[in-house]
Amino acid sequence: MAAEIHSRPQSSRPVLLNKIEGHSDGVNAAVLIPKEDGVITVSEDRTIRVWLKRDSGQYWPSIYHTVSSPCSCMSYHHESRRIFIGQDNGAVVEFLISEDFNKMNHVKTYPAHQNRVSDLIFSLESQWVISTGHDKSICWMSTQSGSMLGRHSFGSWASCLQYDSDTQHAFVGDHSGQITLLKLDEQTCSVITTLKGHEGSVGALYWDPVQRWLFSGASDNSVIMWDIGGRQGRTLLLQGHHEKVQALWYLPLTHQLVSCSADGGITVWNMETTREEAPQWLDSDSCQKCGQPFFWNIKQMWDSKTLGLRQHHCRKCGKAICGKCSSKRSTYPIMGFEFQVRMCDDCYDTIKEEDRTPLATFHEGKHNIAHMDMDPSRGLMVTCGSDRVVKVTHSSFTTFTDVFPKLKSITFCCGTENEMFSRMLMLLFLYTGSQSGLGFQQSIIKLKAYFILDEFVIGGKVQETSKASVAKSMEEADSLQEVKHTHTHTSFL
Ligand SMILES: [Zn+2]
Ligand SMILES: [Zn+2]
Repeated sequence: MAAEIHSRPQSSRPVLLNKIEGHSDGVNAAVLIPKEDGVITVSEDRTIRVWLKRDSGQYWPSIYHTVSSPCSCMSYHHESRRIFIGQDNGAVVEFLISEDFNKMNHVKTYPAHQNRVSDLIFSLESQWVISTGHDKSICWMSTQSGSMLGRHSFGSWASCLQYDSDTQHAFVGDHSGQITLLKLDEQTCSVITTLKGHEGSVGALYWDPVQRWLFSGASDNSVIMWDIGGRQGRTLLLQGHHEKVQALWYLPLTHQLVSCSADGGITVWNMETTREEAPQWLDSDSCQKCGQPFFWNIKQMWDSKTLGLRQHHCRKCGKAICGKCSSKRSTYPIMGFEFQVRMCDDCYDTIKEEDRTPLATFHEGKHNIAHMDMDPSRGLMVTCGSDRVVKVTHSSFTTFTDVFPKLKSITFCCGTENEMFSRMLMLLFLYTGSQSGLGFQQSIIKLKAYFILDEFVIGGKVQETSKASVAKSMEEADSLQEVKHTHTHTSFL
């Protein structure tokens, strides 16, 4: 199925809605509570706090819980209100939050690691809590018995984790820059492959189970998209940050990747456009253009009585080239180079002005971003970091009037290229078509699209793929949401 849609990333800025202050040390994770005006934070100051928005418009803590060791990460499961906290001392603690978000009860403590827990995920399907730690391991534990099921060790600190519940695959990013793909079983695990591409510690991973794309961000300031499900070994390099990348989120409906870096940079990548893989760097003892030897090529230097040159690489063709043959710089967004990079003279001449059109938009979070969470259905984003500040922003980077410029003239044809996206589009089409003509407010259409997406995908995971049941829940929620959301969110539509 393909829909004739042409969208471009629009630079609608994230708008700061609220600033949450009061932590006495860095905030390591902050998540939005779905369908509530609430945020949960865990901090280096050893606190777990649940913040609810009061009538004054400010967030106030309704839960303030102190634990024995700094809190490094969390996994919150909204339907069951279970929360798992990773700690600096290696333990994972589970709590149950009360329905009114005013109380939190200790459930279990899992002796997960010897050292700081770096990331963790609770999987309801597996009834497992999976965690990675600075003791260079991943472990998975049964949330029913509380016992350890399995552990696997790496060569360096395991820094981040993603998990596919359906297939029981885990992705672990580590300090050496590698990502290990493992298949977890009840007592054992097997290493499927190792993804090598980053030149620095992997700081963030994001798995999109629908497209089967893995995104990784690292301290080399770059993001890589690994096409796990598609063409074999296809990787796309995305360079649009000046600092280490520490948070990622993929928005499937608008095909946008959001990446955040330590300097507050927020980059929104258009992943719908056709992109090219950056070439491998070639090795040569002499410049592949003018033939002059590089400085380690003693023999040729001696034979030709010339001084060796420094080796550089053209980012577009990958050739080993001397400085003189690669004096020009250019951006080349189709290969992910949003900033100017080195080009050989031949490549530079082939780049046309339209090839330099950015394929990402750039925004300022204006604080250190160590962790980020999004709720696409409400267009909300929460960021936190070592500056102790938590920011809640409205972040509808692409509005749906951009995605659906002329709703009346959208052309549909059916196929199976992307089942999930086509279902969503079809649903949106049927839904809007069933309304009184197509002339009702664009803003409502935008909201509906978010809500439909929300019914399908919660927390990056597909929840519901039946058109009928989504349409039914849409109808039920319809009257309520139309009143509530047009009232509360009109300002930023
Ligand atoms: Zn040269
Ligand atoms: Zn070149």
